[in-house]
Amino acid sequence: MGTTDQEFEAEIDRLAALQDFDRKLKERVDRVEVLTGGADEFEAKVIRRRTAVAELTQQRDSLAKQRTEMDGQLEVDGGRMRDNRMRMSRVKTDRELMAIQREIDLGKEAKAQLEEELLVVMDSLEKINVQLAEEEEALAELETEVAARITVPRSEATELSQGLDAEKARREELAAGIDASLCRKYEQIFQQRSGTAVVEARNGICTGCRMSLRPQLFNELQRYKEVRQCPSCHRIIFYRDRTAEEAAEETA
Ligand SMILES: [Zn+2]
Repeated sequence: MGTTDQEFEAEIDRLAALQDFDRKLKERVDRVEVLTGGADEFEAKVIRRRTAVAELTQQRDSLAKQRTEMDGQLEVDGGRMRDNRMRMSRVKTDRELMAIQREIDLGKEAKAQLEEELLVVMDSLEKINVQLAEEEEALAELETEVAARITVPRSEATELSQGLDAEKARREELAAGIDASLCRKYEQIFQQRSGTAVVEARNGICTGCRMSLRPQLFNELQRYKEVRQCPSCHRIIFYRDRTAEEAAEETA
């Protein structure tokens, strides 16, 4: 086989060490992703609410301005009406009287129409104020969680990310010590099997998927001390002689 038992055991140890390292690294990277993803999601929610509040506020302000303008218009019109009524007591001809009367009639019509429009604006204003109050309350509730849901997870993620490059470099050092094609296979399985790529074959079963191995395969594993793949889960399997201590522990 070209490799001695000792060399084989050393290779397996390196692979197992790499797997340990990769698991911790993966855990850390996954944690950073979860923290960042959660913070981003919450932030998007807050931004949506803030936008809704801003839009409603703008609509409310525009309606309020409209209302002020209408109130002003009604006051101006009211003043003109009073003037017209005063003029009426001083007119000298029927023609003048009719002209003023016409102006007063038109003024009444305009007032009625403006008052109707004002009612619509006031109604909208009332509805939008209710809506705005609800949105503001919901936003205020979200804002109280900003620290816990965004600031804290992000700083935790930043902290976890620090030194990650150094860890990855260390990982490459470990990987470089392993046969290149075995390492590639290992990496592929590590990805597919979410973090468990190398497992021991023990008592005739693959400890990765708990399936029984064909006796011939198990015998070969024991005899030749080489890495094979489990026919069921495709993980890298190996056999290692138990130390007396381990064997005692197992039968206990
Ligand atoms: Zn298996």
